[in-house]
Amino acid sequence: MLRLTDTRTGALEAIVPSTPGRLKVYACGPTVYRYAHVGNLRTFLLTDLIRRTASMHGLQVQLVQNITDVGHLQDDTNLDADGEDKLLAQAREEGKDPFWIARHYEEAFHRDQALLGVHPADAYPRASESIDLMLRLIADLVEKGHAYVGGDGTVYFAAESFASYGAISHNKLSELRAGHRADATELAKGKRFHADWALWKRAGENREMTWPSPWGHGFPGWHIECSAMSLDLLGDVIDIHTGGIDLRFPHHEDERAQTDCYAGKEVVRHWVHGEHLLFEGRKMAKSTGNVVLVSDVIDRGFDPLALRLAFLGTRYRQQANLSWAEIAGAHKTLTRWRASVAAWAEQPSAAMVVEAAQVLDAFSDDLDTPRALQVLRSVEKSGAPDGAKFETFAWADRLLGLDLARDVGRAPDALPAGAQDLLDARAQARTEKDFALSDRLRDELAGLGVAVKDTQVGQEWTLT
Ligand code: AMP
Ligand code: ZN
Repeated sequence: MLRLTDTRTGALEAIVPSTPGRLKVYACGPTVYRYAHVGNLRTFLLTDLIRRTASMHGLQVQLVQNITDVGHLQDDTNLDADGEDKLLAQAREEGKDPFWIARHYEEAFHRDQALLGVHPADAYPRASESIDLMLRLIADLVEKGHAYVGGDGTVYFAAESFASYGAISHNKLSELRAGHRADATELAKGKRFHADWALWKRAGENREMTWPSPWGHGFPGWHIECSAMSLDLLGDVIDIHTGGIDLRFPHHEDERAQTDCYAGKEVVRHWVHGEHLLFEGRKMAKSTGNVVLVSDVIDRGFDPLALRLAFLGTRYRQQANLSWAEIAGAHKTLTRWRASVAAWAEQPSAAMVVEAAQVLDAFSDDLDTPRALQVLRSVEKSGAPDGAKFETFAWADRLLGLDLARDVGRAPDALPAGAQDLLDARAQARTEKDFALSDRLRDELAGLGVAVKDTQVGQEWTLT
């Protein structure tokens, strides 16, 4: 059975689906105004690991992941700041139509997910196409007395109307302070309590991406989309809700308040959050200026799945500190494992080693991926028959998602006579920083039909 740390209870919880055999999962998806950085992808990988482990336990997983293409303001960290919509700001900066921006980065997100071996979700609802759902939900919340219309037509959720507000992040309403400049403006406009937040915002004259509503032309707040889409596609019992740790507050607190007040009960059974990715010691973020994209990883000659392997080296609820050296190390291990798996596959098949069960145990124990890798390293070094090692790694790869059997049955490319000596000489020349010689040797190799590329992990060759 899979066990995960539940942010709300703070405890390790057994994941028992409410409908036997069927696990319903909602994952907060990307805001598609820029390329997802590898920190974002680490968080998305968490959901994939849950999905794979649950599948190995025989559960059928239904996963919904939203695409935020409207309503996420530049400053959502404050309970209700008057920021600019991230998408509109980017559209302005690139001089493009906001929907073009949204679709462009949404496609890039799907490509990146595939490069990282993440299984697609069953549905990717877009916020901009779910406005009716949100309006119905908001109307219901107004009717039930959980929401009210402010002076300027903005609809607010009344935080104090939801008694257990703060249960995920352990923030108490009484301790959340007023005083932000934007709060003062909002209060002047008819917001009743500083911690209330906007469900629907009245739009100014020239704003793009607006929709008609009973409260005038406007656009949704960020949090309401996840309530509306999760209730619509998964219903009022959701087994697991995932996201990055920063979404605990205010996004998930607000979402939980909206959803539970609509349904009249606790809808999400387990909240699971992934810790942040740091790069060379600092949190990866656009504002920090240390963003790394999947395309950067590929440009440096690394397999994108090396990134996945590097992520598996740290448990999801710990901060991971990545560096280029770490990615290079993971690339080396991945290359070695693929070559070994291909070689082992040449030998007669044999039953998996008994330690294989420990790999699933480690994943099931709150996704202890470092321990799973440890088990595989010791199987690799063990004296088990090659056929048993092959079966073990091939099976474990259903959890790891590293495409370890990629090279099975592929005849290794043979270098033409004399090429290996030239490659060795070139590697030596590069170590000695004799680039003139290295270039000459590259030309000689090209003459033999061998193309050489320099990567972070040394030179790589292909036959032309
Ligand atoms: P966004 O596209 O900005 O809405 O973020 C998508 C997801 O990435 C959210 O679940 C965030 O919590 C998560 N996230 C943002 N920064 C990081 C980071 N440095 N490491 C891990 N996850 C992150
Ligand atoms: Zn969300």
